Amino acid sequence: MPRPFCYRCRRPALTCVCAAITPIATRTHLVFLTHPKEYRKVRVGTGRLAHLSLERSEILVGIEFDQHPRVRALLGDASTDCRLVYPGPNGDNLSRGEYRPPPGSQPVFFLIDGTWAGAKSILRRSRLVRALPRVGFDVATPSAFSIKRQPRPECLCTLEAAHRCLTLLAEHGHEQIDASAGHRLLAPLRRLMEIQRGYPGRRTPPPAAVRGARPPQVVTTQFSAAVGTRADGCERESARR
Ligand SMILES: [Zn+2]
Repeated sequence: MPRPFCYRCRRPALTCVCAAITPIATRTHLVFLTHPKEYRKVRVGTGRLAHLSLERSEILVGIEFDQHPRVRALLGDASTDCRLVYPGPNGDNLSRGEYRPPPGSQPVFFLIDGTWAGAKSILRRSRLVRALPRVGFDVATPSAFSIKRQPRPECLCTLEAAHRCLTLLAEHGHEQIDASAGHRLLAPLRRLMEIQRGYPGRRTPPPAAVRGARPPQVVTTQFSAAVGTRADGCERESARR
């Protein structure tokens, strides 16, 4: 008999993290672009958790987004200020407060949710997304959520990257999210880590089906070092793109 499954967070019901999700209102509109292969393969994509946690967000699955009606609508809307969150030499550094949305505009941040390989193929085949002005940020400390070993310590999962963007925007007066909301935004990741540490709170060992299951993993994303501020691996990675 198939194990019960949560179709909201897309996890086995026994390790569902929905209780840790409290949707947060933001000024910034976040759009998560997910590679379909990663979408099917990855059991714990934090892009989905980020989408569930942010009221003003959406998740689009695909590789070639230039013809995607939703992407075209956002890019063609004169009231939006669309940016790609990705390392690049000419992006605005959120940590330094370089990004200033035009007055009256709706900031729209596109984040690619997936592995480096998935991100590369999306950018290769989505000229309009690739051409978007970029924003990035400094990563002074390694990811706090090392559920899955990251290729480089400065690389963050998608939910962390979204959190970093929003809290930095708030620091510079462009976002309404406060420290409490920022803490709540990361709650699903904390829950995932608890689950990884051995299903705490359980008085009995998990059933055989779960004991044999692989531990939860968080997808490594492309989000990484500061835009144009560090001569490290992530920047070289972006320079090759
Ligand atoms: Zn769930």
